[in-house]
Amino acid sequence: MQKIILKPGKEQSIYRFHPWIFSGAIKTITGNPREGDPVEIFSSADECLGTGHFQQGSITVRMLSFKPAKLDSTFWKGKIINALELRKVCNLAGSGHTDAYRLVNAEGDGMPGMIIDFYNGTAVMQAHAPGMYMIRNQLAEVLKDVLKEDLTSVYYRSAPGAAGRNGRQENGYLTGGESRTIITEYGHKFSVDLEGGQKTGFFIDQRENRKLLMDYSQGKKVLNMFGYTGGFSVYALSGGASLVDTVDSSAKAVEKAHENVELNFPSDKHHKAYCADVFDFFREQGNVYDIVILDPPAFAKGMKARNNALQAYRRLNTKALEKISPGGLLFTFSCSQVVSKEQFRQAVYSAALQSEREIRVLHQLSQPADHPVSIYHPEGEYLKGLVLQVL
Ligand code: SAH
Repeated sequence: MQKIILKPGKEQSIYRFHPWIFSGAIKTITGNPREGDPVEIFSSADECLGTGHFQQGSITVRMLSFKPAKLDSTFWKGKIINALELRKVCNLAGSGHTDAYRLVNAEGDGMPGMIIDFYNGTAVMQAHAPGMYMIRNQLAEVLKDVLKEDLTSVYYRSAPGAAGRNGRQENGYLTGGESRTIITEYGHKFSVDLEGGQKTGFFIDQRENRKLLMDYSQGKKVLNMFGYTGGFSVYALSGGASLVDTVDSSAKAVEKAHENVELNFPSDKHHKAYCADVFDFFREQGNVYDIVILDPPAFAKGMKARNNALQAYRRLNTKALEKISPGGLLFTFSCSQVVSKEQFRQAVYSAALQSEREIRVLHQLSQPADHPVSIYHPEGEYLKGLVLQVL
């Protein structure tokens, strides 16, 4: 295996189990590793620190093992078994609560650069680093071996902007092909578009937050902004909401939201879905709601965009607060990785101040247990939310 030798002192972050090695920490690279090749990491004192995937760029190595390891099928099988075990411990895999869960959450499962979501028999794999892209077929075989008859197919989905060795985008079934794409989450059915939808098809990460909304929805008028395929809307209806409006700027998402409501509540009269920009909707609709949900896409993809994102969160939350009846609730989220919990809270705080209303925090929300975060890699924590009561 090719070797990466670190500069003196740079082994410290590896001792602290941080999974990334930045280019500035490297003294020597032996051989000529190509994008995605396995490499062994050594300290300046020639101590082997572990094994990772090589990549050109600022993050040069993603650590896969903090001791010497051969990256063969047995190694990957161990990782997948551990990942599945956690989802069983969390009462997700095989529990009857849901047949959709995240099976592998990148660094949180010791597999930097790889996401695997499980949708009722279909595993959707998405590589965010070339090393993982290169071994996608090997991983598909390992999944078959571990999940056995629970797995019908494996779909590979290119991450937007990320890719394989040649920057190629590639979508398709690695095994199987006929996917059952109706999932059942806490008794609610959703049709999931594995091939054309956002992320890997569904926002699994909001599962517990949708369930929380259900408990507050009885008799309430609910506005689901950035509603995508109607996840929060279905739960609100299930909780007995008297009216649910879903708003999304994507016509395809709005169509799917209708489909999902119909799947659960045939001929329902309480739900309406609007294909509109949220700011236009806020401006043009005079309605007031008991509950507003704000779950926008990641406004900031990089550090540079962070300030603009914080402004956008403030403006958005200000608009939402204007639409909430006295005593009503705001479920507000951010999934921008570069915006911290404190920064998001500060943006919401500014919006609250501007509203001149009395506002209390009822819940502080986050990503669920099938999106675990390594304590050594806090960068993996991305979803944050607040439930506010607005007097
Ligand atoms: N809450 C959803 C996920 C939201 S994803 C769920 O739980 O499933 C973000 C959504 O915001 C996408 O569907 C995207 O189409 C929509 N969107 C992005 N910008 C928007 C805008 N300016 N106005 C309305 N919708 C927007």
